[in-house]
Amino acid sequence: MDVHCHLDLYKNTKYVVDECIRRKLYVLSVTTTPSAWEKTHQLANGNKRIKTALGLHPQLADQRKAELIIFDKLFDHTRYIGEIGLDGSKGNKSFWESQMKVFNHILNRCNSSEERKILSIHSKNAAKEVIDTLALYPKAGKVILHWFSGGIIELERAIKSDFWFSINPLMFKSKNGLKIISSIPKEKVLLESDGPFTQINGNSLYPWDTMNCIPKMASIWNYSLREVENQIFKNFQEILN
Ligand code: MN
Repeated sequence: MDVHCHLDLYKNTKYVVDECIRRKLYVLSVTTTPSAWEKTHQLANGNKRIKTALGLHPQLADQRKAELIIFDKLFDHTRYIGEIGLDGSKGNKSFWESQMKVFNHILNRCNSSEERKILSIHSKNAAKEVIDTLALYPKAGKVILHWFSGGIIELERAIKSDFWFSINPLMFKSKNGLKIISSIPKEKVLLESDGPFTQINGNSLYPWDTMNCIPKMASIWNYSLREVENQIFKNFQEILN
């Protein structure tokens, strides 16, 4: 599975989609702007394992906030929302107000929806603010924190809030990433590539590269490869329930 990738942003989009279908991968294809949803949805070509999430990336919040109108129009077309969230990194703090406006608008919409949405959330340098904001919308849906990199206090709050975490191969390369991965309850771990932005040795990660996480999880959990696969697939079924 890959519960957070940007299918529309690969150069070789058709190859990636065909390969995902051939490998029978479950893919959550996230978008960074509402106007990208329609075309990204078409990329999946009706394949039932590839779902397209409707999103507005926090780094684009200022530039694209007018697209909230498109977001609202498309809202009922999908159960999946993302990539959304907040980004407290240096260059993005300058339009914090727009980020908050967009994130709150989307969560408010999800919170009053009949359907229980599944949300893929960005929280880079803003874990506390993301968790604080999510707490205001308890019925927004099932939350997946994508590439979580917050501190231990935020991690504990997120675990208490019953959030899921999608982890990617790059997280195993940092000390904080490893600490987070070993602290997440086994039932809450999902896999992501965040491709094509994530790279190892200059090569973009593909959705099937999430499988690189399996042997690493096996040694952290002291599980066999098969046990890790079963556990993570069970988690995936659980979030879809
Ligand atoms: Mn992403």
